[in-house]
Amino acid sequence: MIDLRSDTVTKPDERMREAARTAAVGDDVYGEDPTVNDLERRGADAVGKEAAVFVPTGTMGNQIAAHVHTDPGQEVLAERESHVVRYELAGFAQHSSLQVRMLDGGDRGVPTPDQISTEYVEEDLHRPGTGLLCLENTHNAKGGIAIAPEQIEAAAEAARNRDVPVHLDGARVFNAAVALDVPVTAITDHVDSVMCCLSKGLGAPVGSMLAGSEEFVERARRVRKLFGGGMRQVGILAGPGRRALENVDDLATDHDHARLLADGLSDIDGLEVQEPETNIVCVDVTGTGLEAEAVVDRLEAADVNTGAIDSRTVRCCTHRDLERGDIETALERIETALAG
Ligand SMILES: *Cc1c(COP(=O)(O)O)cnc(C)c1O
Repeated sequence: MIDLRSDTVTKPDERMREAARTAAVGDDVYGEDPTVNDLERRGADAVGKEAAVFVPTGTMGNQIAAHVHTDPGQEVLAERESHVVRYELAGFAQHSSLQVRMLDGGDRGVPTPDQISTEYVEEDLHRPGTGLLCLENTHNAKGGIAIAPEQIEAAAEAARNRDVPVHLDGARVFNAAVALDVPVTAITDHVDSVMCCLSKGLGAPVGSMLAGSEEFVERARRVRKLFGGGMRQVGILAGPGRRALENVDDLATDHDHARLLADGLSDIDGLEVQEPETNIVCVDVTGTGLEAEAVVDRLEAADVNTGAIDSRTVRCCTHRDLERGDIETALERIETALAG
């Protein structure tokens, strides 16, 4: 089976398994796990923030960030198709009593400064007040697109001019930086907090980082405990996490593979392929006369796993467990499966 469903399917390689086996550990709830402490230092440095906290999932990282930045009853400005809106079970409402005001971020999935100014709500006797702006880079649902630092800066500035903090869902922010050939800090410098996943393209089995100011991270640790994410000898996971941070440059290979896949797919009848910017390839399958789910089923029968993101779009994701040959094989299988 060639698995193109997600970059989360990567399995820890020998180096990571060795890092888990040999990690020095302690009770991290007491702050005594040296491997976690070192990973948090490196994670903070990598994204240019004062501090960082290791969290079990990206979702928890985003949810903690919203909880720390806001007061109950406030509004969060978030893009309509963003992960925090679509795929986190309305966690902002459930965990933090927040109301989401959704903005349409257009093709690039980023609200304009004008939209942010217009949708900003000043707190008064009737109105709840805007407590947070959430951005996403790369933007997952828009097809893994890499948002330029200038666009993040413009949106963040519009929020900050109104004293609204900015959180970046940077699950794949390293993919964005590699694709745009900029240091990741060119993106993260403009936001107050950033979550990035170690367990996607970077290949760790588990874990994400949430980074920001010392004060933010201190409060985030309390909220992580509140949400049940205080972990003990978790150096076992932080060891592979440290290796993951060394894999950033390898993301360029995933991006090359995505382009190869997209080129091949665009030669297949009935497929309309969005030009990939990172490791995600979105394919409109309307021309096949099949719904996306039916295409996914047919490809699965041909030993290629993909995913449907809506009734007409199939998503393929490249990752570090795939080689060039796998992409070529996948293309042959897809062509045959759709011709049949
Ligand atoms: C995967 C992802 C998350 C959540 O990460 P989990 O570790 O799966 O909880 C958040 N935001 C984006 C954009 C993602 O792609």
